[in-house]
Amino acid sequence: MTEKQKQKIWNFKDTNLQQWQHERTIVENELSNNQSMFCVCGKLATGFHEMNCRKFNDKVDIETLKRLKL
Ligand SMILES: [Zn+2]
Repeated sequence: MTEKQKQKIWNFKDTNLQQWQHERTIVENELSNNQSMFCVCGKLATGFHEMNCRKFNDKVDIETLKRLKL
């Protein structure tokens, strides 16, 4: 994720935290269901792993940005 993307997320969350969380939960569930056994980082995808995986969370953040057209 780029610094610019991070900045956009921070700015958006500052004023629209609920909308961000709502949209992000949808994206997270979709990406989580799409993966059969492995996470984007190549490790075995468990719910616990994804919650703590930086690569997975970055992917969710970037997709959420796209959906919110930021
Ligand atoms: Zn991972």
